[in-house]
Amino acid sequence: MIEGVKQQKWWGWGEDGKSYSHHDKPKFAPFVKKMVGVDITAAVPPSPRFDDLEVPASQLGEALRGELVAILGEKFVQTDDETRVVHAFGKGVRDLMRVRAGQLGRLPDVVLYPGSQAEVERLVDAVVAADGVLIPFGGGSNIVAALEAEPGETRQVVSVNLGRLSRVLEIDETSGLAHIQAGVFGPDMEDQLNSQGWTLGHHPDSFVWSTLGGWIATRSSGMQSDKYGDIADIVRGLTMVMPGQVLSLRPLPSSSSGPSVREMVLGSEGRLGVITSAWVNVHRLPEVRELQSYFFATYEDGLKACEQIMASDAAPMMARVSDAVETQYIMANGKKSSRIGSLSSKAIQKIMEAKGWDLEKIAMSFVGFEGSPTHVRYEKGLVSRIVKANGGISVGKGPGTLYDQKKYDTPYIRDFMLDRGLICDVSETTTPWAYAEQIHTNTVARFQKAMDEIGVRGVVFCHLSHSYHSGACQYFTFAIADDSENQMATYDVAKRVIQQSFMDNHGTVSHHHGVGEEHSPWMDQDISPAGVFIQRKLFDGVDPGHHLNPGKII
Ligand code: FAD
Repeated sequence: MIEGVKQQKWWGWGEDGKSYSHHDKPKFAPFVKKMVGVDITAAVPPSPRFDDLEVPASQLGEALRGELVAILGEKFVQTDDETRVVHAFGKGVRDLMRVRAGQLGRLPDVVLYPGSQAEVERLVDAVVAADGVLIPFGGGSNIVAALEAEPGETRQVVSVNLGRLSRVLEIDETSGLAHIQAGVFGPDMEDQLNSQGWTLGHHPDSFVWSTLGGWIATRSSGMQSDKYGDIADIVRGLTMVMPGQVLSLRPLPSSSSGPSVREMVLGSEGRLGVITSAWVNVHRLPEVRELQSYFFATYEDGLKACEQIMASDAAPMMARVSDAVETQYIMANGKKSSRIGSLSSKAIQKIMEAKGWDLEKIAMSFVGFEGSPTHVRYEKGLVSRIVKANGGISVGKGPGTLYDQKKYDTPYIRDFMLDRGLICDVSETTTPWAYAEQIHTNTVARFQKAMDEIGVRGVVFCHLSHSYHSGACQYFTFAIADDSENQMATYDVAKRVIQQSFMDNHGTVSHHHGVGEEHSPWMDQDISPAGVFIQRKLFDGVDPGHHLNPGKII
């Protein structure tokens, strides 16, 4: 490991020693048992041991190694087994299942840690000249298989970790723009910006373990995107090192200079080059920030409310509503002592029953507000009227505040579940508002039918977040109880059914997770064969020798 560059554990999410706990959540184990029949309180095997892995040797040749050491110095050219395994995968559930099972695939032969753009330029040219494969690495948090070398790759595979490029270089206070190095992780970047009174406002759930460059390369979206925009809106200019040349796009509010090259880089997943820095929109830290919680009788009522909030003058930073099963999950996963855990308290239940609600169908919603106190009061008033018009009730700030505080701990639950034979994953999509209800109903139904057909217990739930003028993202979480040797095949069925349902119900293959290898099979359906043709020409034109993260996207 390189000092100052964070690294996730090789077999799971985030830092070593940190894990999910269901203590003080007495409703969680019964919830899981009811949904998928698994007893999560039973004893589990210890965490996987690195020493049990059979790690294939590095195939880095002496000639390339010598050149890389000349560029970076010995210390920043790493070939040890654990570093290579960590850099081989993202954190998709398929990655986790494979790495835990010791199925390591084609590991990188070397991991590089450049400390300047000049070094990136030299190493890109050296790898291409040596006919190697180069894969940029941010935080390794992607869940679409966007990092792994192609199986059987015979060329030398070089992973480039951008973690030493982690500084906010400049803030243009007049324009509200910051120039930031691409390898910075979310918290470090916000600390640097906040100390000067600014924020980027981009908060993906993976914020702690993902980087600016990774966000750009995957077209990421944060939970506050309703106010701050997706990363595609936030990034105004950038620098990307390509073989033999450097792309330099100045930060401009808009431009009419032909097809947008900036947009071509957004979502390019390392296939066009290494992004070394970007100019991004930044905002003054808001005076007030709060999350209000609401309940609706049904998810459909909540969807309508979100659509109306989007069309109103209220412009909250987030509006999210969970379907009935996700609502039960949130309530079961709340600590006994917390407002979420006690939401099914008698008082609130009575209000809901008095309204004639079926408690199995209620939908929980969080709406986030930011700005001056007057602005927040005004927005809250508008949202409150819309909630009421759709039959909803407000339950105040408590649950939303707690959700806000704990949101970055949630990803640890996947490892906890996997330890107990439960495969948990997510798939997300966007549709126009007109199809929001349809895609939810049909995707849930198709998943359940598929699980019934193969005789495995599974549960799927969903929330809507990230709203736009014409539609919104819906984010499906699914859990499958299968610890048999067919685990991967079962997962494939679930993932395939959900993605195909997106295609068949006016959705996109992904709203913000990108394509990688995981979503590649649906690209023809998503952007049409002609769209794939254009992308292929772009990648082949820029990188005819297929040196840059080949096999991703298409
Ligand atoms: P990596 O995973 O390291 O890389 C992703 C891709 O980008 C690879 O193809 C890589 O080669 C390329 N790349 C990385 N850095 C560069 C660079 N500097 N130049 C060129 N190419 C580069 N995503 C969201 O958008 N919103 C969420 O809320 C969200 N929540 C998540 C929650 C969990 C628990 C997990 C596991 C993932 C989540 N993700 C989310 C997905 C993931 O965090 C994003 O895709 C993220 O943008 C990846 O960033 P990274 O720095 O980890 O990139």
